[in-house]
Amino acid sequence: MSKRCREPERTCIACRTSQPQAALLRYVLSPQHQLLVDYRHKLPGRGIYTCFELDCIRNAIERKQFQRGLKVDHQPVTVDEIVASILETLRQRIENLLGMARKSSQVVSGSEAVINGLRKKDGLVFVLLSDDVSSGIAEKLLPVAKRQSIEVFQMFSKGRIGEILGKGERSVAALHAGKLAVAMKLEVQRYKRMSREN
Ligand SMILES: [Zn+2]
Repeated sequence: MSKRCREPERTCIACRTSQPQAALLRYVLSPQHQLLVDYRHKLPGRGIYTCFELDCIRNAIERKQFQRGLKVDHQPVTVDEIVASILETLRQRIENLLGMARKSSQVVSGSEAVINGLRKKDGLVFVLLSDDVSSGIAEKLLPVAKRQSIEVFQMFSKGRIGEILGKGERSVAALHAGKLAVAMKLEVQRYKRMSREN
């Protein structure tokens, strides 16, 4: 049996593509008949799935596939409500991953330290830039990251990044190569896909 076979596959209600369960979004109905996005695939009850794509969520709502799949007679939510809930979960996931990276000493923070680390090719693979970073720091850091083909993603205030890292304000943090960086890149990709302008 190959590795691929171990994880059960599920089908997106909108585009009918089958994928490993973990790659899809799962939805269940709460006891109060509210639609919940079951991000961790743990909530009890009948679950339905979509791809991690705005188009699939939108199409499923338009074609009333959520209500059919969950066997309710009203439209349980709007696209905006689902997307807001997913984005909030993704922000929390990214915060948690940054906190875990801090605990396992896989994060470097502060613009000087990150720029030096990038220049020295210290094994940094992902840069998180605060959304209120000064233009001076951004102009210094972005070309260095670009030259090394390191992905930069802008999210959170410098106050929040500092707080997660147990420090004062931090406009820049970077992760070393490893499982946490891989996980963070995945969640950031999902965040980008979900928050893309329509
Ligand atoms: Zn789909």
